[in-house]
Amino acid sequence: MKKVDALIIGGSAAGISAAMTARRHYPEATVALVRREDKVPVPCGIPYVFGTLDSPDKNLIPDAAVTGNGAELILDRVTALDREAHSVTTQGGQTIGYRKLVLATGSKPVIPPIPGRELENVFTVEKDVDYLHHLSEKMDEAKELVIIGGGFIGMEMADECRKRENLNVTVVELLPHCLFLAFDQELCERAEQTLTQAGVRVRTNARAEAIVGNGKVEGVLLNSGETLPADMVVFGIGTLPNADLAREAGLDLGPFGAIAVDRHMRTSDPDILAVGDCAEKFSFFTGQPCPLRLASIATAEARIAGANLFELRRENPGTIGVFSTKINGLSMAIAGMGEKAAKEAGIDYGIGQAEAVDKHPGGMPGAQPLRVKLIFRRYSRVLIGGQVCCGDTTGEVVNLIAALIHTRMHADQIAMFQMGTHPALTASPIAYQLVNAAEQALLNMR
Ligand SMILES: Cc1cc2nc3c(=O)[nH]c(=O)nc-3n(C[C@H](O)[C@H](O)[C@H](O)COP(=O)(O)OP(=O)(O)OC[C@H]3O[C@@H](n4cnc5c(N)ncnc54)[C@H](O)[C@@H]3O)c2cc1C
Repeated sequence: MKKVDALIIGGSAAGISAAMTARRHYPEATVALVRREDKVPVPCGIPYVFGTLDSPDKNLIPDAAVTGNGAELILDRVTALDREAHSVTTQGGQTIGYRKLVLATGSKPVIPPIPGRELENVFTVEKDVDYLHHLSEKMDEAKELVIIGGGFIGMEMADECRKRENLNVTVVELLPHCLFLAFDQELCERAEQTLTQAGVRVRTNARAEAIVGNGKVEGVLLNSGETLPADMVVFGIGTLPNADLAREAGLDLGPFGAIAVDRHMRTSDPDILAVGDCAEKFSFFTGQPCPLRLASIATAEARIAGANLFELRRENPGTIGVFSTKINGLSMAIAGMGEKAAKEAGIDYGIGQAEAVDKHPGGMPGAQPLRVKLIFRRYSRVLIGGQVCCGDTTGEVVNLIAALIHTRMHADQIAMFQMGTHPALTASPIAYQLVNAAEQALLNMR
């Protein structure tokens, strides 16, 4: 029987990062990664294969991410885990022993139990290159695409698919706004507006009751009684943890059905760790379990697990949740809590906002508006959230906000924050949005 020091199951964001970190922290250890697919798509790039990138083959994670770091890559599906024997067995008939095992088996798309889901031309968004090729080919023939779900997967899919000239695209969202689980209302409205301007029909407060058709999709029946014309339906309503192997092996699961882990990413078996979409998360702010599943969280957890394999070196502070998107040229991002989440958690908060162009003076080529909204606990003035919008620096500014949240900075410290500025690269030091939003919040909280 083959035996390695560290065996990782799963070859996407979490598995690869766990393998890389294991090799960095324990260079003497033998590390192997087993994954079931031949090619791995960049998961976050999937919407772009239907528009900007043009093909699933342009959206692949190179195997060198694993092998280039000295880990062995095994292409096979793990079918069973024997905790007592410290080994796994695979579809291809291999038995692989381990000292430490990392489960990075990810997630699968949710398919709601609505009538008509079995009809031809009903799809989900699978992290599977062959499936994506098939979906793309079917899109070439379709005219009316209905995307069920106005979260970030549905919105990004809609924005990319509308670039195909043969397709009319409609998004159906149950909640009052698209992206409503992530952003405060004003940003959701901006996202809906910009998508509508791009030619996508957006139906909010609308529940898809059934997919209708005779063998093949012909329409989507809404709770209002209206039937939207459709010859293709794509579900983009979230994911569920892929915890089957863990459950069958008797590992504990958490309240959202993911694998229960402690702050060191260890499961209920101390020789097995779990990371990424398959692992349970808890909130950085409340300590409560939370069902967020993002590649950025997956890789952070993997960097904890990889370091903790043979000695406890890192601790998970909890999930902050940092998320960014770009819809029809409008960049939007959030780190931590929005107002809605803060209210639901019973936190009394104060906000500050600031807007300025992201270069200075404003006449510099390519200058774009950048708006920052910060949310602080009123009592301690500690930062708990930030939302950023519009220009292309949004993605990095929100990451900076995440770091400020992680270090629990308070409004006064952010107002005194020493930043670097440059006319071609940043807002002016006088108009620097983070600092001015913190000052504004301090005034509001007085
Ligand atoms: C369309 C889309 C867009 C997204 N955009 C973003 C974004 O912009 N930013 C962001 O942070 N997140 C985004 N996400 C979420 C992100 O993709 C996931 O959080 C991330 O993929 C989780 O990584 P993971 O490695 O935990 O799981 P997965 O990506 O699900 O990978 C699981 C791996 O395990 C393997 N596996 C499972 N079971 C077995 C088995 N029995 N044997 C062998 N191998 C097995 C799979 O084949 C796969 O390689 C997006 C998701 C989707 C679907």
